[in-house]
Amino acid sequence: MKYASTRGGAEGRNAPQEFTAIMLEGLAADGGLFLPERYPTVLPPELEAMREMTYPQLAFAVLSKFATDIPADDLRSMIDRTYTREIFRSADVTPLKTLEPGLHILGLSNGPTLAFKDLAMQLIGNLFEYALAKKGDELNILGATSGDTGSAAEYAMRGKKGIRVFMLSPHGRMSPFQAAQMFSLQDPNIFNLAVKGVFDDCQDIVKAVSGDAAFKAKHRIGTVNSINWARVAAQVVYYFKGYFAATRTNDEVVTFSVPSGNFGNIYAGHIARSMGLPIKRLILATNENDVLDEFFRTGRYRVRKSAEVHATSSPSMDISKASNFERYVCDILRRDTARVKALWAQLDATGAFDLSGEKFRDMIAATGFSSGSSTHADRIATIRGMHEDYGVIVDTHTADGIKVGLQYREAGVPLICLETALPAKFSETIHEALGREPGRPAGYENIESLPQRFDVIEADAAQVKAYIAART
Ligand SMILES: *Cc1c(COP(=O)(O)O)cnc(C)c1O
Repeated sequence: MKYASTRGGAEGRNAPQEFTAIMLEGLAADGGLFLPERYPTVLPPELEAMREMTYPQLAFAVLSKFATDIPADDLRSMIDRTYTREIFRSADVTPLKTLEPGLHILGLSNGPTLAFKDLAMQLIGNLFEYALAKKGDELNILGATSGDTGSAAEYAMRGKKGIRVFMLSPHGRMSPFQAAQMFSLQDPNIFNLAVKGVFDDCQDIVKAVSGDAAFKAKHRIGTVNSINWARVAAQVVYYFKGYFAATRTNDEVVTFSVPSGNFGNIYAGHIARSMGLPIKRLILATNENDVLDEFFRTGRYRVRKSAEVHATSSPSMDISKASNFERYVCDILRRDTARVKALWAQLDATGAFDLSGEKFRDMIAATGFSSGSSTHADRIATIRGMHEDYGVIVDTHTADGIKVGLQYREAGVPLICLETALPAKFSETIHEALGREPGRPAGYENIESLPQRFDVIEADAAQVKAYIAART
C-alpha cells in the first residue's frame, strides 16, 4: 500500500511512498499529510474471525493491511512485544467496563504513562528502532511538551537503539506527577530539558531548531507528533477491540464517544468505520476549546490564536487547531487534493474556511460524526455523577467524552466512551469534584520521591542546539 499527500504533490520527493518511509518522514514534502491511497476493507468473514482474536492478533490483522512493506514475521514480533500484560497491565490491553447494559467505558489508559497515547507510542518505539536499524541510520527526536505527549514519547523510546529523545518542557510548570514521570527516567538516551519559559517558548525553540535545515540534517533531528501515520494506524485497533467487547454479533452497531483535541483518536475511529466496522456514530467531544465542535455544528473551521486558547481542567485537549483534521477533510472532499491545498492556503491567509454548503453537510453526515462541548462545571458534575451512579472515578478528559456522549445516547445502540487518561494524573480536579484523591496504580505511589534527572536551560534556541550537538 502506498501513501500520498493530502495536498496532491506527486512528483520527486512528493511521490507516493511505503509505510516505513512515511512513518519516519512525518509531514509530506508539500506540507500535507500522508493518506493511504484507499482504506483497506474488512469483509464479513474476516470480521467474524476477528471477533475471537486477542489484542495482539487483532493488531496484526489490522496493521498488516497498512504496513505492507514490513515482513509479516517482523511486524508480528514487534506487536507481540508491545501489547503485553506487563506493559498494559492486563491481557485485554484495552479492557471494557460495562456501567449498565448499553453503556461502556473502554480503558485506553493502562500503559506506562496512564494515558491513551501509550497504545500507539509503545508500538512506534519498536517500529522506529526496527526501521532505523534496517537503514543503518539514527534519529534524535526533538519535542516540546506540557505533560502528556512528552512522557508517552520518552517511555516509548527509552533504551531504544539508534534513538535519542530531547524533550523540552516549561521549567516548574508541569504538575509534580507529570514532572516526576518524565524526570525519573534514568535511561542514557533520554534528555529532559527544563526551559526557563512557558510551553509556547518550548514550541518556538523546536520550530527554530527544526527550521535550520543544515542542523536538522547533520544531527538527524526528527519528531513523533500526532500526525504520524503509524500512530493513527495503531489507534484503529482498539475501535475493533471495543466493538467486539460490547457486542455479541456483527449485526449490531455501536457508537463511540471520543474526547478530542488534535483529532488523532477520533480520526482512527473514522478509518475503522471506513474499513467496514459497524459504527453508527462517532461523537466528538471538546472542552471549552471548541474549534472542532464549531466545525461539526456549523461547517466553519476557524483556528484560534494562542491567546484565545483556554487553559482548562482537561489540558490535553487545549488546542488552537486540530493537526489531523486535514486528513478527514480530504476524505469528505472525496480526495480532491487541489481543493484541500486551496483550503489550507486560505486557512494560512485568513485563519478560517467554510464548508457549510448543503453538499458538504451531506458528506459530513455520511461519515457519522456528531459533536458537542463541555465546560469545567460539566466536567465536575459528570465526575460526581459517574461516582454516585456507578461507583467509578473518571478523569477530566474522559468526563468530557461521557458528558457529550450521553447527550446523543440512543436506545438499542451501545455507547462506548473512550477513557483517555486515568484520574490519578489529574488529581486536583478529582479532589474538587469528590473531596478525595483518586487512587494510583501499583508502582506509582511514590513517583514524586524518585531521583530526578533533568537539565535547566535558557529559552534560547542556540543553547538548545549546542546541548544537542554536544550529545549526538
Ligand atoms: C491527547 C489526549 C486527548 C486528545 O486526543 P487527540 O488524538 O489529540 O484528539 C484526549 N485526552 C487525553 C488524556 C490526551 O492525552
